[in-house]
Amino acid sequence: MLNIQGQSRAIGQLQRALSSGRLASTWMFAGPQGVGKFTTACAMARTALCEAPVRKANRHADGLYVPSLPEDFLLTLACGRCEACKACNFNNHPDVHIISRQLVRFHDRSGTSKATTLSIGVIRGEITGDSNPERPVEAKLYKHSQRGRGKWFIIDEADLMQPEAQNALLKALEEPPPQTYLVMITASPADLLTTIRSRSQQVQFNALPTDIVIQQLALQGVTAADAAIVARLSGGSIGCSLDWLGLTVADKAHATRQAARSNKPRAGEADDDAGSAADAPDAADAPPGNILHWTIAICKLLDDMVLGRAGAMQLATNIQKYSDDYARRQLRRDPLTSKEQAKRAGIAIMLAVIGHWLDDRLRQYIGAPIEAPLPATTHALTPTSVHRALAVLRSAETHLDSNAHQALLLAANMTALRAAVVPQLTGR
Ligand SMILES: [Zn+2]
Repeated sequence: MLNIQGQSRAIGQLQRALSSGRLASTWMFAGPQGVGKFTTACAMARTALCEAPVRKANRHADGLYVPSLPEDFLLTLACGRCEACKACNFNNHPDVHIISRQLVRFHDRSGTSKATTLSIGVIRGEITGDSNPERPVEAKLYKHSQRGRGKWFIIDEADLMQPEAQNALLKALEEPPPQTYLVMITASPADLLTTIRSRSQQVQFNALPTDIVIQQLALQGVTAADAAIVARLSGGSIGCSLDWLGLTVADKAHATRQAARSNKPRAGEADDDAGSAADAPDAADAPPGNILHWTIAICKLLDDMVLGRAGAMQLATNIQKYSDDYARRQLRRDPLTSKEQAKRAGIAIMLAVIGHWLDDRLRQYIGAPIEAPLPATTHALTPTSVHRALAVLRSAETHLDSNAHQALLLAANMTALRAAVVPQLTGR
């Protein structure tokens, strides 16, 4: 738990709860994507379930140190050797239940779900059960813990719970059985019912400092200059950085999530399923590029556009292409991913790249320092141009989630963007 970097305040809060011996039953871990919320939840469960936890003083000199806690504080650490710890290390502790949207495929029999939400079927099947006499489902929440030290339910991307799923969960939260702990992981807590939020102990996670992201990426062989750019684009998210670079090898959280879903028996084998066949990845068809290649290419196009050497359509077409590559890679990584959703995420990343590039041009104009500048050969842009261009980007982002024709919308938006950064071309 102490090796989670950059989240001293959150770890301190959890350590205090562990040492008090009075753990809240419902938790909400909130904060940006990819900063360690899920990893921390798993570490918390592991520490609480450990059969021989170790108490150690919070000494800076020992390397085991939480800056937000005093030096005489006694940390609670998992021993790492007992059967429970070993089971957690192999992602197969029977009392740790990981709930993710991908489980939709195991609980919803239609076979058409794209795993974009956490349905009530998932919440019933994995947590609350269902007393419907026609199709009763056993409630895992009320079963005895198998190793006798309590049960942990970790709901990843909890904000994706559909309203009826949230309501079913809410009922269960009113009177949780003893020694039962539920952790909701979310990057957008506002999407959860107020009643759920108010019942949860909140733990806030921060964006990671750039140097920590750079350090982590260096372990994966990424150069400091490249890492700085990716850290900037990801807004201090090590998870997004690794994902965007196509690096998942050392992403233990990803392995845990994968293990959780591959251990499941499938509910609807027979009708499973036209959707996944269409999206199935082709192992030989590795999509090219990663965030660095795409960023360099998009920045060059922006340069060319400002200099009148490239048109808005070129930019729109390339954004489409790179977001397609991104979506294909996500599908290879997890065949249950919704291709549409992944593509939208890809477009959002490319739009963010453009936003940062514009920000650099503005900083150049006012003579402000640029940390990890994106590649550019063009001169500064006026604040008016940049603000107009950013308004176009915001509008493009707002429309991403609509069902509108993406290619058309992108073409229209990039045309407006070009008009903003090259005002003299407006109307031609
Ligand atoms: Zn242990």
